[in-house]
Amino acid sequence: MTSGFFLYASRYAVLGAGFAGISVAWHLLNDSPKDLRLSVDVYDEIGIGGGASGVSGGLLHPYSPKGKLLWHGAECWRECLELLNVAESSSSSSSSYTSATEKGDTNESFGNFMVRRRGILRPATNAKTLDLMSDNARNCLASCVVETIDNDVAQDLVPNLCLPLNRAFYYPGAMNVNPQRYLQSLFLACQNSAKASLGRQNITLVKKSINDVLELEGEYDAVVICLGSKVDFLPGLTGKLPLRTCRGVITHLQLHESASGSYPEGGPSILSDAWLAVQGPRDLHMGSTWEWQSRNYSSDVSAEEASRALAELLPKASAVYPEIEKWELAGARAGLRAMPPVTSHGSLPLLGCVDQLIGGGSCKFWVFGGLGSRGLLYHGWLGKLMAKAVLSCNEELIPSELTSWKRKTILTISSTLKLKQSLRKLRSHLAEDLVVLLVQPGFRDQGSGCCPNQEPLRCGERW
Ligand SMILES: Cc1cc2nc3c(=O)[nH]c(=O)nc-3n(C[C@H](O)[C@H](O)[C@H](O)COP(=O)(O)OP(=O)(O)OC[C@H]3O[C@@H](n4cnc5c(N)ncnc54)[C@H](O)[C@@H]3O)c2cc1C
Repeated sequence: MTSGFFLYASRYAVLGAGFAGISVAWHLLNDSPKDLRLSVDVYDEIGIGGGASGVSGGLLHPYSPKGKLLWHGAECWRECLELLNVAESSSSSSSSYTSATEKGDTNESFGNFMVRRRGILRPATNAKTLDLMSDNARNCLASCVVETIDNDVAQDLVPNLCLPLNRAFYYPGAMNVNPQRYLQSLFLACQNSAKASLGRQNITLVKKSINDVLELEGEYDAVVICLGSKVDFLPGLTGKLPLRTCRGVITHLQLHESASGSYPEGGPSILSDAWLAVQGPRDLHMGSTWEWQSRNYSSDVSAEEASRALAELLPKASAVYPEIEKWELAGARAGLRAMPPVTSHGSLPLLGCVDQLIGGGSCKFWVFGGLGSRGLLYHGWLGKLMAKAVLSCNEELIPSELTSWKRKTILTISSTLKLKQSLRKLRSHLAEDLVVLLVQPGFRDQGSGCCPNQEPLRCGERW
């Protein structure tokens, strides 16, 4: 009972069915006036969770690597928990999900849970930042506390853990999420919510690749672009968003049933130089590699890439959890992150109306991208803000920190010569403090002294 009975007054397209897209779709349906006849079409070339979201580690907490609460961490944390609850409720009322889990459909690579609430442990590994981390822990959220623990307490949580500095930070309220199950259930919740509106609302998943958003113009009141690392392929947006890609490989490790020392049932996941996202007593994911500027969008990982990732990650993980050496490689998958510039507030996603970049007339085009390595944390709150702005056609409802990228000048630098030329241009923009540098692969500044530590320049870095 949908379009046959109602002509929808408002039609929205959401491009991409990852964390960003499904969150926006949920909020468009649920945060719009109840009597509004609204329909949402979600387009994805692969399907739900077809990009980075579907392969992500699913680790969720609101803190930076140094334990500092992230920008608007409280709102992000609250809204993300809210969406997890929505997804859990819809899956528990869905017979297909229940029967799959009852039948023991472990779907090895994804674990047999939607949300594993066993906390996350971050062993201190750097003496220089230990005091800072301890200070940050004192300013943690009441809804996601950070406990500073010593070796004895840590051993109770994970036997045979190795704490190089006899100190770890324990987030008992943190969790890991099975991203595929979560997204499927959140989409189901969208469908249920539309059904409950007695046909006044509608949501459809359209499996289709969109090559040019202008092909949708005229059909929709607004189009929200949530294409992750592929946003750069859209005509009008190519080279316009200050994003860098970064491929990450996650390995799936299993402990053979004959081997002793399975992971404790209540044991937390571990965040260190490599992370361990626990899936079960003999199953875990170990991640992740960081291959900057990769253009490999495939989630498939060759045997050679998997063994390279294993060689890189295993020593890092075994420095804090030596038992991992007994586990065996059972598979690997990968995703491409869309990394935004580093700002004084951290690496913030990019939101905003992009009509001016895309062209077109009546239709409003919006972007929600650059979720970097924190998509899970950011998608709930920012998806809500995005939907509000789209529904009311008002970009000012989005915090300016998330739209400021639109006012930046993008300079692309590929050599020291170009860097010097660009610096001249840059001077004319200094008053605005609005300059982004995109550095092409392989470029290192050879001694102009502009990039102090001789590391490759990073997009948006202030130096
Ligand atoms: C290895 C790895 C580990 C990670 N671990 C974590 C973690 O533990 N915690 C965390 O919070 N974040 C993690 N992240 C980051 C997180 O995965 C991303 O921030 C998040 O997935 C971005 O979501 P998105 O919806 O913007 O993009 P995506 O999930 O990439 O969604 C984009 C969607 O658009 C579709 N699409 C693309 N082009 C088109 C087109 N032309 N037409 C139609 N559809 C199209 C794709 O199929 C895809 O489904 C990890 C990322 C990686 C790579």
